Amino acid sequence: MSASSSAPARDRLRIAIQKSGRLADPARSLLAACGLSWRQSRDKLFCFGESLPVDLLLVRDDDIPGLIADGVCDLGVVGLNELDEQAKARRQQGLPDAYQPLRGLGFGQCRLMIAVPEDWDWQGVAQLSGKRIATSYPAILAAWLRDKGVDAQVVELSGSVEIAPKLGTADLICDLVSSGATLAANQLRPVETLLDSEAVLAGPVHELDDARAGLMAMLLRRLDGLSRVQDRKLLMFSAAEERVDALARLLPDAEPLLRLPGNGTSVRLQTMCNGALSWQRLEELERAGAQGLMVLAVEKSLA
Ligand code: ATP
Ligand code: ZN
Repeated sequence: MSASSSAPARDRLRIAIQKSGRLADPARSLLAACGLSWRQSRDKLFCFGESLPVDLLLVRDDDIPGLIADGVCDLGVVGLNELDEQAKARRQQGLPDAYQPLRGLGFGQCRLMIAVPEDWDWQGVAQLSGKRIATSYPAILAAWLRDKGVDAQVVELSGSVEIAPKLGTADLICDLVSSGATLAANQLRPVETLLDSEAVLAGPVHELDDARAGLMAMLLRRLDGLSRVQDRKLLMFSAAEERVDALARLLPDAEPLLRLPGNGTSVRLQTMCNGALSWQRLEELERAGAQGLMVLAVEKSLA
């Protein structure tokens, strides 16, 4: 029997996002870019979907995997670090998998890393043997240590992990790193990466079997459409016929140049480029004979 077959059919999709914190604004903006809009409730914990039957629940990020596991929410925007930690913790307790990452969302990038005091002469993971490691990610760390065959003590802390070595409660830490500034401020140096993380859209392991399935498929299709057009730019320009081949050689990462009817002396050209088109690159194209260069952002695509 599937987990959802005993639950009553629902016709509104519910998505959990972080109420406040690093992932809150980007999660909301991304869902809004997918065409969702909400009426804000007064307590702001529940936002009723207006444009589509898709509601938001605003919670702490740590609660999101559990809300999906319990079927309270159908989807959630959460860091892969949090999802992976709770998934590993469930497995270590012998519980079945209850959620999975469905899509990477391209924000909230960070790494879960081992960081050691700056004055350590780092030789490799064997050096961690017998040491105390402070972390908020005990399940990921324990699995990694086991995998490396290192016997170390995991000291679980819910916050301020980076000051544990200074306080003497641990010898080193395993924590999230983005710029590395917090580590440097605490005289710590990152040495090993356990996980490359970003925000993900998480969902259940079982398929939904009511109206929510269609809503979820539509949302995923729109998300895919957005990620396809990210960093895609339409480049348009004109050039004399004899310059076209040289210009095409300057655009090896673009689609083949498409010729549009020109005015007799020149050809109008357009192509789709992936990645940034710097001023320098445009000036280079101009020197090679491109005229009237124009770069247009692509907003939506159902290709
Ligand atoms: P909450 O109140 O919701 O529990 P929090 O303090 O646990 O908030 P944030 O600090 O907002 O959460 O981080 C949320 C997520 O942002 C992290 O789980 C991680 O996926 C991502 N993130 C990106 N960069 C960093 C970073 N430098 N430090 C911590 N988290 C980061
Ligand atoms: Zn949290």
